[in-house]
Formats: sequence, C-alpha cells, structure tokens
Amino acid sequence: MAAPTVVLLPVWGAGHLMPMIEAGKRLLATTGGGGRALSVTVLVMRPPTEQQASEVEGHIRRAEAEAAAAGLDVRFHRLPAVEPPTDHEGPVEFTSRAVELHVPHVRAAVSCLPSVAALVLDLFCTPLIDVARELAVPAYVYFTCNAAALSFFLRLPALLEEAAGEFAEMDGAADIPGLPPVPPLCLPTPVMERARPECAWYAYHGRRFADADGIVVNTAAELERGALSAIAAGRCTLGGPAPALYPIGPVISFPPPAEPPHDCVRWLEAQTPASVVFLCFGSGGFFTAPQAHEVARGLERSGHRFLWVLRGPPAAGSRQPTDADLAELLPEGFLERTRDRGLVWPTTAPQKEILARAAVGGFVTHCGWNSILESLWCGVPMAPWPLYAEQHLNAFALVAAAGAAVAMEVDRGRGNFVEAAELERAVRALMGGGEEGRRARERAAEMKAACRSAVEDGGSSAAALKRLSSDILCRQLPSSSLATP
Ligand code: UDP
Repeated sequence: MAAPTVVLLPVWGAGHLMPMIEAGKRLLATTGGGGRALSVTVLVMRPPTEQQASEVEGHIRRAEAEAAAAGLDVRFHRLPAVEPPTDHEGPVEFTSRAVELHVPHVRAAVSCLPSVAALVLDLFCTPLIDVARELAVPAYVYFTCNAAALSFFLRLPALLEEAAGEFAEMDGAADIPGLPPVPPLCLPTPVMERARPECAWYAYHGRRFADADGIVVNTAAELERGALSAIAAGRCTLGGPAPALYPIGPVISFPPPAEPPHDCVRWLEAQTPASVVFLCFGSGGFFTAPQAHEVARGLERSGHRFLWVLRGPPAAGSRQPTDADLAELLPEGFLERTRDRGLVWPTTAPQKEILARAAVGGFVTHCGWNSILESLWCGVPMAPWPLYAEQHLNAFALVAAAGAAVAMEVDRGRGNFVEAAELERAVRALMGGGEEGRRARERAAEMKAACRSAVEDGGSSAAALKRLSSDILCRQLPSSSLATP
C-alpha cells in the first residue's frame, strides 16, 4: 500500500520553494519506517516568467536526484497553468491572487491522490486551508520567514484596528509581541500604505494562519525565544487560541559545491580569514547608478576587501534584476583602483558557498530571512540593508533582538538609499576591531552554534520536526488504535 503523502504547496520563488522541499525531505527522513511511513508530493505552480520556470525546473531536477539518492519518496506534480493577474499593484497581491486562481487545480490534484496525510501550505497559500477542510485533511502553514514576522502577521489584523492612519505617522512604537518596541518605519513594506491591496493581503494571510492546524516556522527556538513564546502564549491572537508551532529550522538546502569552483569562491580562497566583506541582495535587489556610486565610494574609502554581487535594474515590464553593466553602474576607474582588494560580480553568485568561506568576515545583506539564516549558520555577522517585503522588520530584529549585526542607516523615504559615508562607517564597524563589530561577531558565533545544535539529533528543531511527523502520523490512525487499553 502506498504511504500516505504529505502534500506541499510552495510558491515559485527560490526562497520559498527550496526550503519547503528541504523541509519535506527532512520530515520524511525523521519519520519512522526508514523514511517510508510517509511520502511527499510537491504541487508545482507554473512561475510567471520563462526564466523563473526554467530555474524552478532546475531546482526540481536537483531535488528529485537528491531525494532518490537518499531513498526518500518525493514526487513532483505540475499543476495546470493559470492566466496570471495583470492589474496587480505589487508582488504580494500578484502571488496571492495567482494562488487563488490555482484553488480548483489544487483541489483536483489532492482529490486524486490515494491517501493524503496533510496539506502544507506556503504562507501565501492560505486560501487552500478551506480546500483542506472540505477534503477533511489537516492543513499546516509553512512559514518561510522568521518568528518575528509571524508574530507581526498574526498581530496585524488587530494592529490595523487599533491604529488609525498610516503606520509611518503613528506616535510611539508598534507592539509586536516578543520583540522590543518596533519603530513604525521598521514595519514591512506591504503595510506602509494601508489602503493598498498588499496590506489587505498581509492581513488576510495573518488572519488565516490562525485557522491552520499548525505553523511550521523556519527558525530555531534558541534564535527567537521571545517571539516564539509570545505567539505560543496567545499574545498575537488576542482572544483566539494560539496556533501549534513547529520551529524546525534552520532549513537550508546545500547543493553540492560546484566543480570546478565558482570564480567568486576561487577568489575568496586566495584571501586571508575574515578579511572580506560580502555584499549580496537576494533575488530581487538591484542598484541604479547613483546608489552603486555611493556603495563604490564607501567600499573604496573603508579600505576593506570586498566581494560585491551587483545586479542592475529590471527591464521594462519586469521585476527581476538584470546582470549588471559594470561600465554603466560604477564610477570611472573604480574597478582598476580596487583590483587588488575587491571583486564585483555582475550576476547571481553561490551565496551559501561564499558565506561558508573563511575569508568572509561580514555580510551586507538585504535581510531576506534565508540570507540571514545562511549567514548565522556560518557565524558571519551582518550589516542590514533592507529593501522590500518584511526585510525592515528582520533588520530591526537582527540588530535590536539578536544582536548579530551592526546597525546601518537606510533612508527608507529615499528608496532605501544608503550614503557612501554611512556604508563606509558600517563596513568599518563590522570588519574592524571596535566594540560594535566585536559584539556582533560574538553573537553570530553563538548563533552559529545554536543553529547547528538545534538541528542535530536531540536538538530543539529536530525534536519539533519529530513532533510534527508524529502529529501528522497520529491523524492517520483510525481512532480505535489511538484509544488507550
Ligand atoms: N541567492 C544566491 N545568490 C544570489 C542571490 C541570492 O544564492 O546572488 C540565494 C540566497 O542564498 C538565498 C536566496 O537566494 O538562499 C534568497 O532568499 P532570501 O530569503 O534571503 O531573499 P529573497 O530573494 O527571497 O528576497
């Protein structure tokens, strides 16, 4: 008889898809029966662009091969394409509406599977909780961000009722349970204009999380005790029950190192330990020439070695950064002047491999949660340069709660602009011998140890994963077999 299957529904972005597949593999590996007590079926939505579609297919091929090599039953089921929305205002609305259009296809796909143990939904897929209820299948949310952002999402519906007007104009700080008082300008981008559909979608998903049977969070108890305890104590879901939480992270998938090594990795191998500051801005970060000039000036004046992944602005009608035209983006003579101590890389680079190199001493990051986790996993302290989504909240938590970063002043009113002098100051603080950098390095080293022990056998995240697997399996048993003798 086929093992009951856990159906995963990720959205297509690499920062959502990859950790969710990795979590599915870990769930199988932790389940009894040599990983054969359950199987995983990943429902794949077709991404909106050809480039993303081919990236997703590449990820799937790799995940299929890895699962087969590990003897894990992971299958991929491509859902029929939908006509994506064209009148959306931002990525949250686009993704959420595209997901809604997939509801009938997901219902049909799940109905055809012989034995479904649970539906695990990406954080933007909460309309599918209703389909799970219809089909009498338990529904879990897989929250790819951190517990701080989860606390915010759960709290948002009430926050919107409590505060009149825009958050940016509110007096004092926002109360996000488990975090120090949050300055309003550190709240996530989609809620900064409350009349926009992006804000309504955030509030919708936040409300729906509480309807799930549990929330799987890509964090570790040791990393975010405050936020996790506040959620578990019901402080975010005023009046309603607190959702069951499964902090199983860090969930990071490590592809085998490229052979021959990537040029950036080869360059790093020739540098001394902890001497290089690494700058990379996720899948969506890019620079225009005025901002790239400021960064170049700041790096040059800092005197530190650097590896800068620099992407250019999207083409018309697209949101995806392009490969950078260095001659157009950088000040004249910059590359020649810094040739001996810097490398500017104009397209995506293998961030995880880079962060794992001893030469990397600091990371200027856009604060996507995967990037933060990857940095903590390697014990690399950070300087936060948040750009979009929930990254401003992540940046705040990283400095104010975790302490694994030095602060950097980002002018949110000017499109997250950072002046050359401020970048220079932050890089010196991060890489130099001062108190701020020393503290961030110490905290990053502590968090590296915490991340690694959390996922080891007996660690907090390994235990949460076991609990998730046994909760899912328990629901499979007929009620008579659950009765105590
Ligand atoms: N990434 C990478 N190389 C790049 C840019 C990004 O490998 O040049 C990876 C990075 O390691 C991380 C993911 O893409 O795993 C970005 O996820 P994150 O949540 O940090 O940010 P997002 O791109 O979703 O904003």
